[in-house]
Amino acid sequence: MTFDELKEGTVFEVGGENVNFAQYFTGKSYLNMISLEQIVIGNVTFEPSCRNNWHIHHADKGGGQILLVTAGRGYYQEWGQPVRELKAGDVVNIPANVKHWHGATADSAFQHLAVEVAGENTSTEWCEPVTDEQYNKLK
Ligand code: MN
Repeated sequence: MTFDELKEGTVFEVGGENVNFAQYFTGKSYLNMISLEQIVIGNVTFEPSCRNNWHIHHADKGGGQILLVTAGRGYYQEWGQPVRELKAGDVVNIPANVKHWHGATADSAFQHLAVEVAGENTSTEWCEPVTDEQYNKLK
């Protein structure tokens, strides 16, 4: 699925270019905040090959993130674990304090809603990029 195909068919608006977090991404992404009340939910859209850096959603209690995949094809991987391939309808429960990344496949745009699970002392730590060498090994 191309970015334009995704953008045309998606239920949730893609929003503007994700400039505020661009330093933590490889490639171009877009962000549209769906909810800023009660529970924070962002709609993140990745161009093909775009992915975020390894990162950790820290929390002393609760916390973590839930990804609801809404379009395209993508990946989710936890540190030291095999990659998981994602398609629309998939749900990923990311525990707090687990290093991971998420993003598009090389041949498809990708979109997920990112639900920020409430917790105590929550913060996100951004780590190193997923290198081309690591990424290009994925099917
Ligand atoms: Mn995450």
